Order: sequence, then structure tokens, then C-alpha cells
Amino acid sequence: MVIVLEKNVADKQIENIIKHLEDFGFAVHKSTGVEQIVLGAIGVKPDFDTRNVKIIDGVAEVYRITEPYKLASRSFQKENTVITIKGIPIGGNEVMMMAGPCSIESEEQIFTLAEIVAKSGAKILRGGAFKPRTSPYAFQGMGEEGLKLIRKAADAYNLIVITEVMENAQIDLIGKYTDIYQVGARNMQNFSLLKELGKTNIPIMLKRGLSATIEEWLMSAEYILSNGNRQIMLCERGIRTFETATRNTFDLSAIPVLQKKSHLPVVADPSHATGLRDKVLPMARAAVAAGADALMVEVHHQPEKALSDGPQALLPEQFMELMRQIRLIAEVIGRKIA
Ligand code: PEP
Ligand code: MN
Repeated sequence: MVIVLEKNVADKQIENIIKHLEDFGFAVHKSTGVEQIVLGAIGVKPDFDTRNVKIIDGVAEVYRITEPYKLASRSFQKENTVITIKGIPIGGNEVMMMAGPCSIESEEQIFTLAEIVAKSGAKILRGGAFKPRTSPYAFQGMGEEGLKLIRKAADAYNLIVITEVMENAQIDLIGKYTDIYQVGARNMQNFSLLKELGKTNIPIMLKRGLSATIEEWLMSAEYILSNGNRQIMLCERGIRTFETATRNTFDLSAIPVLQKKSHLPVVADPSHATGLRDKVLPMARAAVAAGADALMVEVHHQPEKALSDGPQALLPEQFMELMRQIRLIAEVIGRKIA
């Protein structure tokens, strides 16, 4: 930690600051510049709250040097994590596509969409059976019936399944049907859920919280990692900003930022990030160009009848066109789409 002292700091105050730091267990190194004094507090304390120092008289600024997360960091693991699920690698050179409806709605619906997803060359079928809806009166998902249908449809078309888990009580049930647990944006800081998922050995896709910083997001990943499950991917799905033209604001630069800070695979979800069908294709292209390891998009053959997120669902022909275009983009950066 680096502590910059105020310009007119008194010797007594400096002594007091150093004493505080030593009491916290840091070794202190003092460096006197032309205008200001800087203290280096040496010692790795991931849980140390820098505000403890910021409030001491005479302190101007405090900067943390080590990250508060460990297992998720690039400094802990240099090589990219590659998660292999039934022979499908996520985090390797191939960019994986996850596609399907927002919600599983019926057997006919999920089978139709599974066929479209398989035909496109994508390997992962998405669909929610337990839905985190803003309104309690909105469709809440088909529950276990939906899990059975997505599993059956995925098996029929040789796809793997990703579906959302919303609470601890659903972990075992969903684990019987899914290949990847999705933790939704609204649950990114449900620490009790993260800890329990950390004790499973099923891969997890952790979506970014609606207003979460990248550091908070990585701390959430740390909850899962530190409980034993190392198979985590991070999904950027847009954040809440002052802009209202799109449902959320797609934080494209989160992709390279995460890849520098962490070894975990990065997924981009342009469907929830924009909330509008016609914005999904350009943002999918951008996400692949920016280096995403996988994409998640919502597709529906009758979006006007969809029980959730119809306005952002791609029509099947738009999805096929998206696949065609991102294949070209991937090639330019030496990757392939699967
Ligand atoms: C979803 O994937 O359908 C979903 C609800 O996503 P998010 O948690 O990103 O809103
Ligand atoms: Mn959705």
C-alpha cells in the first residue's frame, strides 16, 4: 500500500501515521520527495480496509498495490483457465457460442430452438427454468419441468446445457440436469449461494452484477474459487449507467480488463447488455473482436410470443447471420467459432 501524506504534514502526525501502520502489522518505508512525503506500507493483507489509513490525520491518498482477490488473479495463475465440459473447451482458442431462449416455455419451443442452435454449429444450449423477474407477476419459469425439457432437447441435438440457479435450495435439483450453472446478475453478490456453488464440481458462469465494479465481480468469483470450485467463467452482460438508449450499457472494455487481471474465461452477453434485437449483432461482433472466449445470445423463433425478453431475442435467420459474421471476425484474430 502506498500512502501519500498531505503537503503541510507535521512531524508528529507522520510519527502517528507510521505508528498506526506498524500496529496494523505493516513494515513502513518512508520516502521524502521535493513536495510531499510518501510512505510504503509493506505486507500482504488481502482483507485490509484502506479506509483505516485514509482517515488518519495527515494522510492525503492511499493506494492499494496488491489485489484483494488471489485465486482469481493473473498473478496467482499465469496461464488461462480452460474449462472442458464433455469435450468442449471454454477459454481456449475456440470462441464458444451459447444460444437459446431466455426461458424454456414448452417442449415444442425448446426442441425447435435446440435444432436451430445445433444447426448453427454452436455447442451450448441456454434456457432458464427459474427466472429472476423484476415483477413477481411476470412468468417465473417452468421449474423442474423446464429442466427436464432442456436436458432432453440438448441430448437430442448433442448440445451441453447452461441454466440459471437462483438459490441454495435449487443447487442439487439443477445439478441433476445442467452442465453449467448460471449465476445471474441479480445474484452476483449472493455470497451464501456462491459459497455453496463453490462446493460443487459443476462449472459456473458468473454474470456481472447490475452495478458491480470489476473488482467486486472478481471478489465474487473468489468466493466460489476459495470454496474449491475452480471452473468459473465471467460473463459481461451490461451495467446500469445514466444512458437509457439501451437496456444496459455494454462494458466492452471489461473483456480486456478482465483478461489482464484474471486467468478465468470471459463470456459476453450482448442480448442482456443491449436489450434490443437490432443491437445484438454489432455488439457480438465487437465482443469477439475484443477477445471474448464465449458469447451468450438469446434466440427465439416466435419472439413476439416469448414469455420473457422477446424484444432482445434474435430471429433464427438473424442468429445464423450473426454466426456467419463472427466466424469472419474470429478468423482475423486467429480464433475459431464453435
Ligand atoms: C438471463 O440470462 O436470462 C438473465 C436473466 O440474465 P441476467 O442475470 O444477466 O439479467
Ligand atoms: Mn433473458
